[in-house]
Amino acid sequence: MKIVSTRNPEVSVSFKEAIFQGLAPDGGLYVPEGELNLRNEFLKMNKNTTFQEIAALVTGHFLQDEVGAEGVARIVKAAFPFSPVMRTLKDGLKIMELFHGPSCAFKDFGASFLAATMEEYLRGSSEKAVILTATSGDTGSAVAQAFHGKKNIEVVILYPSGRVSPLQEKQLTTLGGNVHALEVQGSFDDCQRMVKEAFQDPELSKAIPLTSANSISLGRLLPQSFYYLWAFAQLKEELSEDLVFCVPSGNFGNLTAGLYAWKWGLPVNSFLAATNRNDVVPEYLDSGIFQVRPSVLTPSNAMDVGNPSNFERMEHLFQKNWSLMRAMIRGDRVNDEDTLETMKDVWDREKMDICPHTAVGVNAARKLLKENPDLGTLVVLATAHPAKFLEVAEKAVGHKPKLPPEMIALQDKVKISEIIPPTKAALSAFLIRHFV
Ligand SMILES: *Cc1c(COP(=O)(O)O)cnc(C)c1O
Repeated sequence: MKIVSTRNPEVSVSFKEAIFQGLAPDGGLYVPEGELNLRNEFLKMNKNTTFQEIAALVTGHFLQDEVGAEGVARIVKAAFPFSPVMRTLKDGLKIMELFHGPSCAFKDFGASFLAATMEEYLRGSSEKAVILTATSGDTGSAVAQAFHGKKNIEVVILYPSGRVSPLQEKQLTTLGGNVHALEVQGSFDDCQRMVKEAFQDPELSKAIPLTSANSISLGRLLPQSFYYLWAFAQLKEELSEDLVFCVPSGNFGNLTAGLYAWKWGLPVNSFLAATNRNDVVPEYLDSGIFQVRPSVLTPSNAMDVGNPSNFERMEHLFQKNWSLMRAMIRGDRVNDEDTLETMKDVWDREKMDICPHTAVGVNAARKLLKENPDLGTLVVLATAHPAKFLEVAEKAVGHKPKLPPEMIALQDKVKISEIIPPTKAALSAFLIRHFV
């Protein structure tokens, strides 16, 4: 499979180059290019097809040339000791839970696959990689868990001191080993700036094999296509009308991955892009005008994105054709009040806790079903475990959701972090001390 930049089809790289580089040299995002038609294989799948079998099938088409069939099998085994879970609400709405991985959010699928793939590429070689990443919370914990214990890879995570939740801080700082947590005396913006400055320093890059694991990596996007296929396999026998996925969206990686699954032959009829008040994509779908804005704070804070980077991939996929995109994607936005109300309503009716991001999806999905009662099967992606957002749940529903066992165990672990001032000099000193 050929990998090219969104900005220039002539910039063509291997999967390995795409994941170690992150961003294309021309500033574009890497995308799979060319005809991949797996429809016949998708149609053979059924309820008994495991998530791991689907992962192996698609991974094989991308990576077999580079790592062989055994390499593909090793990647899938290392990446996915966890799977999605499908539930049905009383009104027929399907909820695909994507939070049964180590950090209890869907980002585990991407981070875990990227980590396993990088480890495979570095297997038996003397090459090393140092992953440098800044986090305001969720992404960092998924990356930390995913890369923990990976051979030939070190991870350095910068987070703003006092500005991540206590539980998130534990997720970042209690692993030890090859995961180094730097507690920066500054803001998230300081952390991001420091990482950027480190990447731009030619001497540092020459001395240390720095690489990134951020959300625009193709290695994080590809595995997110697998669960759309798995959902189809699970529901295939009960499908009569349309199959529609409702995706709570911020940076639009999750939705873009679904579009790729469709492009490769998944029988899906359409997508519903559900946002909070940060609604530049629903607005584009309404008006044809893409107008980025500073983000606003909402209860579904992992979706507070004013300039979604994967929009560039979406445009590329639809050849910048607004009508084509609209034919496949509906947009909707949900305000803060309705988000909290939906969390309460789902608890009252189903005795089920959902996180605020999932609530945005459920609210938009219910509206769509009300307007189109005969639509068919609607699957909402549940993006995080409700216990990750205790404060919001307490406000919306009046109780704290039960913590999963992984998160209970965290509470007793000891935090190990190094406190540094918000300067590039401090970061460089740390990197040189540890990795040169
Ligand atoms: C990252 C995230 C989202 C948004 O996903 P995108 O791929 O950025 O659209 C939604 N919910 C949760 C819990 C997240 O962590």
